[in-house]
Amino acid sequence: MQHDYDPENIFAKILRGEIPNNTVLETEHALAFRDIRPQAPVHILVIPKGPYATLDHFCTAASDAEIAGFWRAVGQVCEGAGVEQGFRLIANAREHGLQEVPHFHVHVLAGRSLGPILS
Ligand code: 5GP
Repeated sequence: MQHDYDPENIFAKILRGEIPNNTVLETEHALAFRDIRPQAPVHILVIPKGPYATLDHFCTAASDAEIAGFWRAVGQVCEGAGVEQGFRLIANAREHGLQEVPHFHVHVLAGRSLGPILS
């Protein structure tokens, strides 16, 4: 599958420092920052630093070091503030997944009971 990446997407601009963000964690391969429209008391976005549009793009095209570094950062965020009672990861992809920003990211949601997502 062909994966296109738009270098002008908002998260690419955040990575380049062109748009400010509320950083939670930065590592060699990942940046974690608070969502601008939080849906829960804890709502953190974790993104890889490389140019990947979706989870499938990232997990098929990124190096082992990028993949390991990204998921290690997700784990560190999930062990961070406010997630002791549990959390949820969401990764939206493309049109049917209602992905708004075309740079791969996972949402870490926590701090309240999140309710069912599958029925
Ligand atoms: P998606 O629907 O692509 O999975 O989610 C994109 C998320 O990015 C949304 O939850 C939205 O609130 C968040 N977002 C969009 N623009 C910005 C921004 O400029 N800064 C931050 N911190 N979050 C943003």
